[in-house]
Amino acid sequence: MAEPTQTQSTPTTLSAYAYCWWHKGVTRDVRLIQIEETGSGPGPGRQRFACHPCQITHGLVPLADR
Ligand SMILES: [Zn+2]
Repeated sequence: MAEPTQTQSTPTTLSAYAYCWWHKGVTRDVRLIQIEETGSGPGPGRQRFACHPCQITHGLVPLADR
């Protein structure tokens, strides 16, 4: 009697919650719009993400789509 050796791997459910810089709230399904490379401010480079509604409202194009 063979035991089932195939274990079902749980799908990687990475919660894509992130901060939308434009409406200043945490939401999901955000895209990286731009990276502010100015040295001012804390952190090594500021990444600005926007949710889909904000992309449409502000006419934002994700970096990956350029
Ligand atoms: Zn937004």
